[in-house]
Amino acid sequence: MVDISVKAEDLSVHYPTKSGTFHALGPISFEIEQGEFVSILGPSGCGKSTLAKVLTGIIQDYEGAFNVAASIETISTVFQDYGVFPWKTALENVAFPLREKGLDKSHALEVAHTWLERLRIDAFADSYPFQLSGGMKQRLSIARALATEPQFLILDEPFAAIDTQLRELLQEELLELQQSRNMTTLQFTHNYDEAILLSDRILLMSPSPACLVEEIHIPFARPRNAALREESAFADIRIRLRDILRPGVK
Ligand code: ADP
Ligand code: MG
Repeated sequence: MVDISVKAEDLSVHYPTKSGTFHALGPISFEIEQGEFVSILGPSGCGKSTLAKVLTGIIQDYEGAFNVAASIETISTVFQDYGVFPWKTALENVAFPLREKGLDKSHALEVAHTWLERLRIDAFADSYPFQLSGGMKQRLSIARALATEPQFLILDEPFAAIDTQLRELLQEELLELQQSRNMTTLQFTHNYDEAILLSDRILLMSPSPACLVEEIHIPFARPRNAALREESAFADIRIRLRDILRPGVK
């Protein structure tokens, strides 16, 4: 039997508005196995960030139930807007969650530095986020999320604000990191290629309020690499996703 890492049952969210409530999500039910990489793919505004916020405890006003087989300290999140502390240097940003975890200062700084090296931003260890480009800030955000060796990683459109070429490079870096660590990962995205390259399984969401419309298993063996993007089987899946998600078709 496989270990289930995340189980959500009939989750839905209604936001209070001036004219009543707005139904932003669900009901949605799904499971994620231990070590599995699942992408939730859906159009912008369908409720992806709302679901990410429910799973990370930011939104507490929801219906339904969910269970994550990891304590809150072992869940890391990467958001589109980086979520880094502007008043801390790159090194201090990565060291912060390690200090929270109980590492002493010199050990935390040492581990933080190895993560900056791994994401190739160690030359900017003493820089503040405003001094970094979008791509570097996102690398910083990933370094910070992974430094604590999370059991469960949530990625909410981490590369949405980054140009295509750099985005592909970061996807490849993430693929490598994920495969070497085997973390349970839930990625929210509206980018087909990102979802196909990285995922074991893709859950497709309908437009607002998001409900699951279909589930697709991505059959490519691991370890994978970027060359997969050029394969015809990859293109076939892309076409299938596009057909399902085509606007107006539910
Ligand atoms: P996605 O991440 O898929 O783009 P979101 O979860 O951010 O979608 O938003 C889903 C829907 O809920 C959108 O229509 C958005 O405008 C609405 N929404 C998001 N946050 C709030 C809020 N705090 N109050 C009211 N409506 C919201
Ligand atoms: Mg979003």
